[in-house]
Amino acid sequence: MLRLPACLPLILMATLPATGLAGDLDGHAAHQHGVAQLTLVLEKNTVQIGLESPADNIVGFEHAPAKPGEKAAVAAALSTLRRPTLFGLNAEAACGKARTQAGNPFDASGNAAHRDFDVNHVFECSQPTRLNRLDASPLFKAFPRLQSLKVDYALPGGQGSVTLTAASPNAMLVR
Ligand SMILES: [Zn+2]
Repeated sequence: MLRLPACLPLILMATLPATGLAGDLDGHAAHQHGVAQLTLVLEKNTVQIGLESPADNIVGFEHAPAKPGEKAAVAAALSTLRRPTLFGLNAEAACGKARTQAGNPFDASGNAAHRDFDVNHVFECSQPTRLNRLDASPLFKAFPRLQSLKVDYALPGGQGSVTLTAASPNAMLVR
């Protein structure tokens, strides 16, 4: 779990608008607070999961972190986002975590009004033809500000899109 100082979320909720929208300036999916995008691609034995989320969903703010509590929140979020158990794949596919990567959106220069976390998780699966489910419940539990997750997946022989929520966090990967 991401632990924030008890006072921080209340202060941020009081000072930030409930939702924010930004245009699609950089070719990425539209930036909408409360919503994140996940792409899952299976090729041979390798599953690549890419997550792109507005920073607001993850740490509750998008301004450059200035206070010690804000910097600690970003560090804790990065640690959580790199956790091997952030996403679950059905056990029959026998997938193990190969590597994870999560960049700090606040490292970028400039003074962007909106910032996104970009996270990549790679799994190697010994039974990839049996991959049929993605479980995003650890992501929703870790980041309660995240309301919906749009999943686009591509497997050999099948592809599709599904929107997940905390109440419905499993994507069936149909082929
Ligand atoms: Zn934003």
